[in-house]
Amino acid sequence: MDHLGLDDFTRSIHCISNAIQENKGYLTKLDSFIGDGDHGSTIARGFTKVVEKIRKDKPESISELLKDTGFTLITSMGGASGPLFGTFFTEMSKEAEGKDAIGLRDFYAMISNALAKISRLGGAKPGDKTMVDSLGPAVKSLGVSLDRGQGIERALKNMSMASKRGAASTKDMIAKKGRSRYHGKRSIGYQDAGATTIYLIINAIYKSISQKGKNEKINK
Ligand code: ADP
Ligand code: MG
Repeated sequence: MDHLGLDDFTRSIHCISNAIQENKGYLTKLDSFIGDGDHGSTIARGFTKVVEKIRKDKPESISELLKDTGFTLITSMGGASGPLFGTFFTEMSKEAEGKDAIGLRDFYAMISNALAKISRLGGAKPGDKTMVDSLGPAVKSLGVSLDRGQGIERALKNMSMASKRGAASTKDMIAKKGRSRYHGKRSIGYQDAGATTIYLIINAIYKSISQKGKNEKINK
């Protein structure tokens, strides 16, 4: 497989939603150490609405599917992170416009766009203990895979592992953005909730693509 189509992206969105619902309690726990403890329920509510929306609207293109996903997250989640997670999908949608099949180069452009816009919108830099710390390494990894000429499945696997390491690296960081910044040095020792969610999203994309056609239960 060297291209992803609408079916692949649709399965990925369902797979992301499942992973988020399964990890709702964990994400809330992470956000309650150094945040206000709403992240798990907020993102789970967002993806419940996303699944309802795409079941109803049946988007006919990859771009439309991602746009629907992003706007539904923005309108249903609210708070600081709703617009940021929504932007992840709306920015990918822009780059996918007019394309029925997404190759690794397209996917790299999509996810780079998402990182750039999230960074501009939220003002977070690498090391600030936010979603940028798991998304940044994921984008970098995908760039390396592209240079090495790797296939999509392998590239997504590496990207998922890079974002997992990125999320884990937030444990040692001092929060500079979002509510957790009020905790200053006391935020050290806790993994960032939003960075963890980005990992779950990326890992779900990898899982849904790698298990395509295999009748296996999709776990995190
Ligand atoms: P809220 O802060 O409104 O309660 P959530 O609890 O849903 O929102 O999400 C918190 C997550 O949002 C954090 O863990 C962090 O990863 C992310 N976040 C917050 N502010 C920013 C920002 N300015 N830039 C990037 N990510 C951010
Ligand atoms: Mg919160």
